[in-house]
Amino acid sequence: MADAQEFAHVFLFRCQACGRPLASACASTQSNLEMADAHLFNPHCFCGWTGDMLGMISVKHWVEPWESPTTVAKESDSCDGKVEQPLPS
Ligand SMILES: [Zn+2]
Repeated sequence: MADAQEFAHVFLFRCQACGRPLASACASTQSNLEMADAHLFNPHCFCGWTGDMLGMISVKHWVEPWESPTTVAKESDSCDGKVEQPLPS
């Protein structure tokens, strides 16, 4: 299973402060949109805004079949990684 199929999930967000488009991407071994929608992204905008955004609030989310020399989806920035739940306050 050295060459597992991977997918790149690409998300387009809108900056909540200035409205610039912000792109984020992650790798996954699955093409499932819902799984990546649950992933938390931390985009940084040129205006200085930064914050956590769930994939499901993206303006656009698409998936591309992805090839890489290593299985990048196993790394920490992949959509397959566990989503850190915020502590209840
Ligand atoms: Zn901005």
